[in-house]
Amino acid sequence: MHHFIFRCPVTGLNVQGSVASSETEAHYIAHACPACGGMHIVNPLNGKLMSEEHPRLKPES
Ligand SMILES: [Zn+2]
Repeated sequence: MHHFIFRCPVTGLNVQGSVASSETEAHYIAHACPACGGMHIVNPLNGKLMSEEHPRLKPES
């Protein structure tokens, strides 16, 4: 089991998550957040949310 800390974007709290070690090979996992009760897409390797690592893309025009 791999444990990681991520920051809940809704409550701003640091939350500890855990994932089966085999799943850390996947880039992102959907994790149920105990702080806000929602789901966040988080990278268990560094605890970053997908929305943090990939800020809103600007349309290239
Ligand atoms: Zn949350």
